[in-house]
Amino acid sequence: MTSQKIGIYPGTFDPITNGHTDIIGRAARVLDKLVVGVAINPGKGPIFTIDERVELVREEIAHLDNSNGGTIEIIPFQSLLIHFAREVEATVIVRGLRAVSDFDYEFQMASMNAKMAPDIETLCLMASDKYHFIASSLVKEIAKLNGDVSQFVSPRIQERLSERLGG
Ligand code: ADP
Repeated sequence: MTSQKIGIYPGTFDPITNGHTDIIGRAARVLDKLVVGVAINPGKGPIFTIDERVELVREEIAHLDNSNGGTIEIIPFQSLLIHFAREVEATVIVRGLRAVSDFDYEFQMASMNAKMAPDIETLCLMASDKYHFIASSLVKEIAKLNGDVSQFVSPRIQERLSERLGG
C-alpha cells in the first residue's frame, strides 16, 4: 500500500476545457498524484475518440504550471469508477462543481460510491468564477455553429474543434 495521497479526476473530456484544466491544476496541488481518468464511453456519443481525448488532455497538461503540485497521469478507463480507483490505488475521487444543477448528480454519485467503497472519499472542488459557466457540451454546440470559443478552451482545442465540427 502506497503512502502517497492519490486522487482520480474522472470525466469524458470531450474536449477538455479551461474549466477542467483549472480543476486538474488545483487538485494536483493538494495531492501527491492525480490520475486524470478519461472515460471511454459514457454513452455520451463523444466527438473525439478516446485516443484523441487522452492526447488533448496530455497537451493541455503539458502547458500547465504545476511546479508546486503532485504528478499528473492520464489514463483511459471503462470500468466502474471505484474499481478504476482501486486499480490506481486512489483514495480520493475529484469532481468539479459548477452550479446547483451539478449538485444533485454529483451528490447522488458520491453517495452511491461511498456506499460501495467507504474507504474512497469524493472531493468536490468549486469551479473557479472565471470558468464556472463552461461546459464541453455547450462549447461543442457553439463550435458547430462556427461561434468563437476562444474564452472557453485553449487555442489548440479551438483548432481541433473547428477541424472536427467547423463547416
Ligand atoms: P462527466 O461526463 O463525468 O460529467 P465531464 O468531462 O463533463 O465528464 O466533466 C468532468 C468533471 O469536471 C465533472 O465533475 C464536471 O462537473 C467537472 N467540470 C466540467 N466543466 C467544469 C468547469 N467549467 N469548471 C469546473 N468543473 C467542471
